[in-house]
Amino acid sequence: MSKSHLGHTARKRFGQNFLHDDYVIDRIVSVIHPQNGENLVEIGPGLGALTDPVCERVNALTVVELDRDLAKRLRHHPFHGNKLTIIEQDALTLDFSSLRASMAASDQPLRVFGNLPYNISTPLMFHLFDYATDIKDMHFMLQKEVVNRLAAGPGTRNYGRLSVMAQYYCQVVPVLDVPPEAFNPPPKVDSAVVRLTPHATPPVDLHSVSNLERVCAQAFNQRRKTIRNSLKECISETELNAIGIDATVRAETLSLEEFARIANHISDQQN
Ligand code: SAM
Repeated sequence: MSKSHLGHTARKRFGQNFLHDDYVIDRIVSVIHPQNGENLVEIGPGLGALTDPVCERVNALTVVELDRDLAKRLRHHPFHGNKLTIIEQDALTLDFSSLRASMAASDQPLRVFGNLPYNISTPLMFHLFDYATDIKDMHFMLQKEVVNRLAAGPGTRNYGRLSVMAQYYCQVVPVLDVPPEAFNPPPKVDSAVVRLTPHATPPVDLHSVSNLERVCAQAFNQRRKTIRNSLKECISETELNAIGIDATVRAETLSLEEFARIANHISDQQN
């Protein structure tokens, strides 16, 4: 496989691995199921592998592309140029709330999708979680390992900070495995598509998201230790017992509800 695809040399720094397998592309577009009138947003359209078939189905699509050359190509797209709103920007800095407000159907939440640049996929998802109330759903191609972590439940090897935070914001459903050969150039890892659907109401009552993030970060940074040790700087063993949590377990066994209980106790102590 070459680094050049459709006359464009793939740029590693932009995480460019272009999809070229028609079967995989068809499956992804079917899973997204784009409809006219929806506020569709693609992150990283690249050379249009997903953009083109989505534009065949709908009249309007907003795309966010950081690579200036690729944005230029899209502006001069022979068939779909007039359907596209092209935002030439780093998706990590995009205000998705303002984007929604600027759209014709601003009463409707966004439907976001993309074959994401793997080097920024986790920070990008955390950025998007901040806009969860503006988003109906997200379909992303990611490293398979990241999809496994997003979807993992307590007591499993892949369960960690990403699982707890993603599941606080969204329902997580892995939808499709994709081999390296589906891309040009092929990535070194297996990939998978995941559907993230923000919850209409949060699955747990949480007083402070930043406290949940802090507790998860501390607990999973030292995942071999019991939480009595890994969390000792933010909560004591006595306090853990008082809120009904066994201090001798490891982070990987705690449910989202238990992490939320710890975070809420810390918030209550701060007030
Ligand atoms: N959608 C195309 C496909 O499936 O073949 C390209 C996918 S490629 C994995 C990732 C795309 O995201 C590239 O077009 C790249 O230029 C773009 N990109 C990289 N970093 C970005 C960022 N921070 N914001 C927006 N787009 C970015």
